[in-house]
Amino acid sequence: MPPNTSSLTIPSEPDHHRNHESTPMEMTMKKPKKWYEFETKIKWGNTIFIVILHCLCFYYAITFPYRQHPFLFFWGYLMGELGGIGITAGAHRLWAHRSYKAKLPLRIILAILFYSAGMNKMYYWVRDHRTHHKYTDTEADPHDSTRGFWFSHVGWLMMKKKNIVRERGRQIDMTDILQDPVIQFFDKYYIIIAPLLFIFFPIFIPVYFFNQSLKYTIISQLFVRYPCILNATWSVNSFAHLFGYHTYDKNIRPTENIWVSFFAAGEGWHNYHHVFPWDYRAAEFKGFFFNLTSLLIDLFAKIGWAYDLKQVEPEQIRKVVEQKGDGTHLSYKK
Ligand SMILES: [Zn+2]
Ligand SMILES: [Zn+2]
Repeated sequence: MPPNTSSLTIPSEPDHHRNHESTPMEMTMKKPKKWYEFETKIKWGNTIFIVILHCLCFYYAITFPYRQHPFLFFWGYLMGELGGIGITAGAHRLWAHRSYKAKLPLRIILAILFYSAGMNKMYYWVRDHRTHHKYTDTEADPHDSTRGFWFSHVGWLMMKKKNIVRERGRQIDMTDILQDPVIQFFDKYYIIIAPLLFIFFPIFIPVYFFNQSLKYTIISQLFVRYPCILNATWSVNSFAHLFGYHTYDKNIRPTENIWVSFFAAGEGWHNYHHVFPWDYRAAEFKGFFFNLTSLLIDLFAKIGWAYDLKQVEPEQIRKVVEQKGDGTHLSYKK
Protein backbone atom coordinates (compact mmCIF):
# COMPACT_ATOMS: atom_id res chain seq x y z
CA MET A 1 0.00 0.00 0.00
CA PRO A 2 1.46 3.38 -0.91
CA PRO A 3 2.16 5.65 2.06
CA ASN A 4 -0.13 8.57 2.63
CA THR A 5 2.10 11.39 1.65
CA SER A 6 1.21 14.96 2.38
CA SER A 7 0.54 15.70 -1.26
CA LEU A 8 -2.40 13.31 -1.10
CA THR A 9 -3.89 15.05 1.90
CA ILE A 10 -4.23 18.46 0.34
CA PRO A 11 -7.86 18.84 -0.69
CA SER A 12 -8.24 19.09 -4.44
CA GLU A 13 -11.48 21.03 -4.12
CA PRO A 14 -11.79 24.73 -3.40
CA ASP A 15 -12.58 25.63 0.20
CA HIS A 16 -16.08 26.85 -0.53
CA HIS A 17 -17.06 23.24 -1.27
CA ARG A 18 -16.00 22.10 2.14
CA ASN A 19 -18.67 21.37 4.68
CA HIS A 20 -17.07 23.01 7.68
CA GLU A 21 -14.60 25.67 8.68
CA SER A 22 -10.92 24.85 8.97
CA THR A 23 -9.65 24.77 12.53
CA PRO A 24 -6.14 25.44 13.79
CA MET A 25 -5.75 21.71 14.43
CA GLU A 26 -6.42 20.91 10.78
CA MET A 27 -3.93 23.49 9.70
CA THR A 28 -1.18 21.90 11.78
CA MET A 29 -1.98 18.51 10.25
CA LYS A 30 -1.32 19.71 6.74
CA LYS A 31 2.40 20.24 7.44
CA PRO A 32 4.49 18.65 4.73
CA LYS A 33 5.78 15.20 5.61
CA LYS A 34 8.33 12.91 4.07
CA TRP A 35 6.96 10.24 1.72
CA TYR A 36 7.53 7.40 4.20
CA GLU A 37 5.79 9.14 7.10
CA PHE A 38 2.15 8.45 7.78
CA GLU A 39 -0.38 11.01 8.96
CA THR A 40 -1.20 8.96 12.04
CA LYS A 41 0.15 5.81 13.69
CA ILE A 42 -0.41 2.48 12.00
CA LYS A 43 -2.76 -0.01 13.65
CA TRP A 44 -0.51 -3.03 13.25
CA GLY A 45 -3.09 -5.59 14.40
CA ASN A 46 -5.62 -4.48 11.79
CA THR A 47 -2.98 -4.11 9.10
CA ILE A 48 -1.52 -7.59 9.52
CA PHE A 49 -5.01 -9.12 9.74
CA ILE A 50 -6.20 -7.38 6.56
CA VAL A 51 -3.05 -8.25 4.59
CA ILE A 52 -3.10 -11.94 5.59
CA LEU A 53 -6.85 -12.18 4.95
CA HIS A 54 -6.43 -10.83 1.43
CA CYS A 55 -3.44 -13.06 0.65
CA LEU A 56 -5.48 -16.09 1.71
CA CYS A 57 -8.49 -14.84 -0.26
CA PHE A 58 -6.38 -14.46 -3.38
CA TYR A 59 -4.90 -17.94 -3.00
CA TYR A 60 -8.17 -19.72 -2.21
CA ALA A 61 -10.24 -17.86 -4.80
CA ILE A 62 -7.89 -19.29 -7.44
CA THR A 63 -7.35 -22.79 -6.03
CA PHE A 64 -10.84 -23.49 -4.63
CA PRO A 65 -12.28 -26.72 -6.12
CA TYR A 66 -15.48 -25.10 -7.39
CA ARG A 67 -16.58 -28.15 -9.40
CA GLN A 68 -16.44 -30.48 -6.42
CA HIS A 69 -18.19 -28.00 -4.12
CA PRO A 70 -20.81 -26.08 -6.11
CA PHE A 71 -23.07 -25.91 -3.04
CA LEU A 72 -20.39 -24.05 -1.09
CA PHE A 73 -19.98 -21.57 -3.91
CA PHE A 74 -23.73 -20.94 -3.88
CA TRP A 75 -23.80 -20.78 -0.07
CA GLY A 76 -20.88 -18.33 0.02
CA TYR A 77 -22.61 -16.11 -2.52
CA LEU A 78 -25.93 -16.27 -0.64
CA MET A 79 -24.37 -15.43 2.72
CA GLY A 80 -22.40 -12.62 1.09
CA GLU A 81 -25.55 -11.14 -0.43
CA LEU A 82 -27.53 -11.48 2.79
CA GLY A 83 -24.76 -9.88 4.85
CA GLY A 84 -24.59 -7.13 2.24
CA ILE A 85 -28.32 -6.48 2.56
CA GLY A 86 -27.87 -6.19 6.34
CA ILE A 87 -25.37 -3.42 5.66
CA THR A 88 -27.22 -1.60 2.85
CA ALA A 89 -30.87 -1.90 3.92
CA GLY A 90 -30.06 -2.06 7.64
CA ALA A 91 -26.99 -0.17 8.85
CA HIS A 92 -26.97 2.29 5.98
CA ARG A 93 -30.45 3.20 4.81
CA LEU A 94 -32.44 2.37 7.96
CA TRP A 95 -30.16 3.15 10.89
CA ALA A 96 -27.59 5.64 9.60
CA HIS A 97 -29.99 7.68 7.44
CA ARG A 98 -33.47 6.89 8.82
CA SER A 99 -34.65 6.96 5.20
CA TYR A 100 -37.52 4.62 6.11
CA LYS A 101 -38.98 3.05 9.22
CA ALA A 102 -39.07 -0.66 10.01
CA LYS A 103 -41.20 -2.73 12.37
CA LEU A 104 -39.56 -4.90 15.00
CA PRO A 105 -39.40 -8.17 12.99
CA LEU A 106 -37.66 -6.43 10.09
CA ARG A 107 -35.27 -4.60 12.42
CA ILE A 108 -34.32 -7.94 13.99
CA ILE A 109 -33.84 -9.59 10.58
CA LEU A 110 -31.68 -6.70 9.32
CA ALA A 111 -29.62 -6.70 12.52
CA ILE A 112 -29.02 -10.47 12.21
CA LEU A 113 -27.94 -10.01 8.59
CA PHE A 114 -25.70 -7.06 9.46
CA TYR A 115 -23.87 -8.91 12.23
CA SER A 116 -23.51 -11.96 9.96
CA ALA A 117 -21.31 -9.84 7.68
CA GLY A 118 -18.43 -9.56 10.17
CA MET A 119 -18.69 -5.80 10.60
CA ASN A 120 -17.85 -3.78 13.68
CA LYS A 121 -20.56 -2.86 16.20
CA MET A 122 -23.50 -1.08 14.56
CA TYR A 123 -22.97 1.99 16.78
CA TYR A 124 -19.50 2.59 15.31
CA TRP A 125 -20.65 1.87 11.76
CA VAL A 126 -23.47 4.41 11.98
CA ARG A 127 -21.34 7.05 13.75
CA ASP A 128 -18.56 6.80 11.16
CA HIS A 129 -21.05 6.94 8.31
CA ARG A 130 -22.86 9.98 9.70
CA THR A 131 -19.47 11.65 10.20
CA HIS A 132 -18.63 10.82 6.58
CA HIS A 133 -21.80 12.52 5.33
CA LYS A 134 -21.45 15.56 7.55
CA TYR A 135 -17.80 16.19 6.69
CA THR A 136 -17.53 14.48 3.29
CA ASP A 137 -13.99 14.53 1.89
CA THR A 138 -12.60 16.88 4.50
CA GLU A 139 -10.07 16.10 7.22
CA ALA A 140 -12.89 15.17 9.58
CA ASP A 141 -14.16 12.45 7.21
CA PRO A 142 -13.02 9.00 8.50
CA HIS A 143 -12.28 7.88 4.91
CA ASP A 144 -11.53 11.23 3.30
CA SER A 145 -11.11 10.38 -0.40
CA THR A 146 -8.86 13.40 -1.02
CA ARG A 147 -6.15 11.27 0.65
CA GLY A 148 -6.22 8.90 -2.29
CA PHE A 149 -7.74 5.61 -3.38
CA TRP A 150 -6.00 3.32 -0.90
CA PHE A 151 -6.70 5.47 2.10
CA SER A 152 -10.42 5.73 1.36
CA HIS A 153 -10.68 2.04 0.43
CA VAL A 154 -8.86 0.32 3.27
CA GLY A 155 -6.00 2.49 4.56
CA TRP A 156 -8.25 4.33 6.99
CA LEU A 157 -8.83 1.04 8.83
CA MET A 158 -5.09 0.44 9.10
CA MET A 159 -4.31 3.77 10.74
CA LYS A 160 -5.36 5.55 13.90
CA LYS A 161 -8.00 8.20 13.30
CA LYS A 162 -6.92 11.82 13.28
CA ASN A 163 -7.96 13.78 16.35
CA ILE A 164 -10.36 15.84 14.32
CA VAL A 165 -12.14 12.71 13.02
CA ARG A 166 -12.56 11.45 16.58
CA GLU A 167 -13.65 14.84 17.89
CA ARG A 168 -16.23 15.42 15.16
CA GLY A 169 -17.38 11.80 15.48
CA ARG A 170 -18.04 12.33 19.18
CA GLN A 171 -20.26 15.31 18.33
CA ILE A 172 -22.54 13.26 16.06
CA ASP A 173 -26.04 12.83 17.48
CA MET A 174 -26.43 9.11 18.17
CA THR A 175 -29.42 9.33 20.51
CA ASP A 176 -31.66 7.30 18.21
CA ILE A 177 -29.17 4.43 18.04
CA LEU A 178 -28.67 4.48 21.81
CA GLN A 179 -32.45 4.27 22.23
CA ASP A 180 -32.98 1.47 19.74
CA PRO A 181 -33.47 -1.71 21.78
CA VAL A 182 -32.52 -4.00 18.88
CA ILE A 183 -29.15 -2.32 18.33
CA GLN A 184 -28.54 -2.01 22.05
CA PHE A 185 -29.11 -5.75 22.51
CA PHE A 186 -26.91 -6.79 19.58
CA ASP A 187 -24.12 -4.35 20.45
CA LYS A 188 -24.21 -5.26 24.14
CA TYR A 189 -23.77 -8.96 23.41
CA TYR A 190 -21.60 -8.36 20.33
CA ILE A 191 -18.80 -10.55 21.63
CA ILE A 192 -21.16 -13.57 21.64
CA ILE A 193 -23.58 -12.71 18.84
CA ALA A 194 -21.08 -11.64 16.17
CA PRO A 195 -19.01 -14.88 16.18
CA LEU A 196 -22.22 -16.93 16.18
CA LEU A 197 -23.76 -15.12 13.22
CA PHE A 198 -20.59 -14.44 11.30
CA ILE A 199 -18.64 -17.66 11.88
CA PHE A 200 -20.58 -20.44 13.60
CA PHE A 201 -23.90 -20.61 11.70
CA PRO A 202 -22.51 -19.99 8.19
CA ILE A 203 -20.15 -22.93 8.78
CA PHE A 204 -22.39 -25.19 10.87
CA ILE A 205 -25.41 -25.14 8.51
CA PRO A 206 -23.73 -26.51 5.35
CA VAL A 207 -21.59 -28.98 7.29
CA TYR A 208 -24.37 -30.37 9.52
CA PHE A 209 -27.42 -30.15 7.25
CA PHE A 210 -25.87 -30.50 3.80
CA ASN A 211 -22.96 -32.79 4.56
CA GLN A 212 -20.36 -30.37 3.20
CA SER A 213 -16.63 -30.52 3.85
CA LEU A 214 -15.70 -28.60 7.01
CA LYS A 215 -12.37 -27.49 5.57
CA TYR A 216 -13.82 -26.03 2.38
CA THR A 217 -16.78 -24.49 4.19
CA ILE A 218 -14.37 -22.60 6.46
CA ILE A 219 -12.29 -21.53 3.49
CA SER A 220 -15.27 -20.34 1.43
CA GLN A 221 -16.94 -18.53 4.32
CA LEU A 222 -14.03 -16.88 6.09
CA PHE A 223 -11.39 -16.42 3.42
CA VAL A 224 -13.50 -15.74 0.34
CA ARG A 225 -16.97 -14.51 1.36
CA TYR A 226 -15.66 -12.17 4.06
CA PRO A 227 -13.06 -10.27 1.98
CA CYS A 228 -15.65 -10.00 -0.81
CA ILE A 229 -18.14 -8.33 1.55
CA LEU A 230 -15.43 -6.03 2.89
CA ASN A 231 -14.28 -4.93 -0.55
CA ALA A 232 -17.80 -4.39 -1.87
CA THR A 233 -18.49 -2.15 1.15
CA TRP A 234 -15.15 -0.32 0.91
CA SER A 235 -15.68 0.31 -2.82
CA VAL A 236 -18.44 2.76 -2.00
CA ASN A 237 -15.90 4.91 -0.13
CA SER A 238 -13.17 4.60 -2.75
CA PHE A 239 -14.36 3.84 -6.31
CA ALA A 240 -17.65 5.72 -5.83
CA HIS A 241 -15.78 8.80 -4.60
CA LEU A 242 -13.18 8.77 -7.37
CA PHE A 243 -14.52 7.24 -10.58
CA GLY A 244 -17.83 7.94 -12.29
CA TYR A 245 -20.25 10.68 -13.24
CA HIS A 246 -21.36 13.71 -11.23
CA THR A 247 -24.87 13.61 -12.60
CA TYR A 248 -26.55 15.51 -9.75
CA ASP A 249 -23.79 17.72 -8.39
CA LYS A 250 -20.48 18.27 -10.12
CA ASN A 251 -19.09 20.22 -7.16
CA ILE A 252 -18.77 17.19 -4.87
CA ARG A 253 -16.49 14.16 -5.23
CA PRO A 254 -18.98 11.24 -4.85
CA THR A 255 -19.90 9.69 -8.19
CA GLU A 256 -22.46 7.57 -10.00
CA ASN A 257 -20.64 4.26 -10.42
CA ILE A 258 -22.51 1.37 -12.03
CA TRP A 259 -19.96 -1.28 -11.01
CA VAL A 260 -20.09 -0.35 -7.36
CA SER A 261 -23.90 -0.43 -7.62
CA PHE A 262 -23.73 -3.96 -8.99
CA PHE A 263 -21.36 -5.31 -6.33
CA ALA A 264 -22.83 -3.33 -3.44
CA ALA A 265 -26.56 -3.98 -4.08
CA GLY A 266 -27.33 -0.45 -5.26
CA GLU A 267 -24.99 1.69 -3.15
CA GLY A 268 -22.89 3.03 -6.04
CA TRP A 269 -25.29 5.78 -7.11
CA HIS A 270 -23.28 7.78 -4.70
CA ASN A 271 -23.46 11.25 -6.23
CA TYR A 272 -27.25 11.07 -5.89
CA HIS A 273 -26.96 9.63 -2.40
CA HIS A 274 -24.75 12.46 -1.16
CA VAL A 275 -27.14 15.04 -2.63
CA PHE A 276 -30.29 13.33 -1.28
CA PRO A 277 -29.12 11.13 1.62
CA TRP A 278 -32.64 10.80 3.04
CA ASP A 279 -34.01 8.98 -0.05
CA TYR A 280 -34.54 5.29 0.83
CA ARG A 281 -33.56 4.25 -2.72
CA ALA A 282 -30.08 5.84 -2.37
CA ALA A 283 -30.51 6.39 -6.11
CA GLU A 284 -33.01 7.83 -8.54
CA PHE A 285 -33.88 4.42 -10.00
CA LYS A 286 -34.43 0.90 -8.74
CA GLY A 287 -33.53 -2.42 -10.32
CA PHE A 288 -32.63 -6.02 -9.55
CA PHE A 289 -28.99 -5.90 -10.64
CA PHE A 290 -28.16 -2.32 -9.79
CA ASN A 291 -30.33 -1.50 -6.79
CA LEU A 292 -31.50 -4.72 -5.22
CA THR A 293 -31.70 -3.13 -1.78
CA SER A 294 -34.50 -0.77 -2.86
CA LEU A 295 -36.56 -3.65 -4.29
CA LEU A 296 -36.22 -5.57 -1.04
CA ILE A 297 -37.31 -2.55 1.00
CA ASP A 298 -40.32 -2.24 -1.38
CA LEU A 299 -41.09 -5.90 -0.76
CA PHE A 300 -41.10 -5.38 3.00
CA ALA A 301 -43.19 -2.24 2.52
CA LYS A 302 -45.85 -4.40 0.79
CA ILE A 303 -46.28 -6.51 3.92
CA GLY A 304 -46.15 -3.42 6.14
CA TRP A 305 -42.84 -4.18 7.85
CA ALA A 306 -41.17 -1.19 6.15
CA TYR A 307 -43.06 2.10 6.11
CA ASP A 308 -42.63 5.89 5.79
CA LEU A 309 -40.29 5.39 2.82
CA LYS A 310 -38.79 8.78 2.06
CA GLN A 311 -38.35 9.67 -1.59
CA VAL A 312 -37.33 12.80 -3.47
CA GLU A 313 -39.86 14.25 -5.93
CA PRO A 314 -38.81 14.10 -9.61
CA GLU A 315 -39.31 17.85 -9.88
CA GLN A 316 -36.81 18.48 -7.10
CA ILE A 317 -34.32 16.13 -8.75
CA ARG A 318 -34.75 17.89 -12.09
CA LYS A 319 -34.04 21.30 -10.53
CA VAL A 320 -30.87 20.05 -8.86
CA VAL A 321 -29.67 18.32 -12.05
CA GLU A 322 -30.25 21.46 -14.09
CA GLN A 323 -28.45 23.65 -11.56
CA LYS A 324 -25.51 21.52 -10.56
CA GLY A 325 -25.30 18.38 -12.72
CA ASP A 326 -22.43 17.58 -15.07
CA GLY A 327 -24.79 17.07 -18.03
CA THR A 328 -24.81 13.25 -17.92
CA HIS A 329 -28.44 12.84 -16.80
CA LEU A 330 -30.36 10.90 -19.44
CA SER A 331 -33.60 12.91 -19.19
CA TYR A 332 -32.82 16.27 -17.63
CA LYS A 333 -30.40 18.45 -19.49
CA LYS A 334 -28.69 21.59 -18.32
ZN1 LIG B 1 -24.92 7.22 3.30
ZN1 LIG C 1 -19.69 8.73 0.44
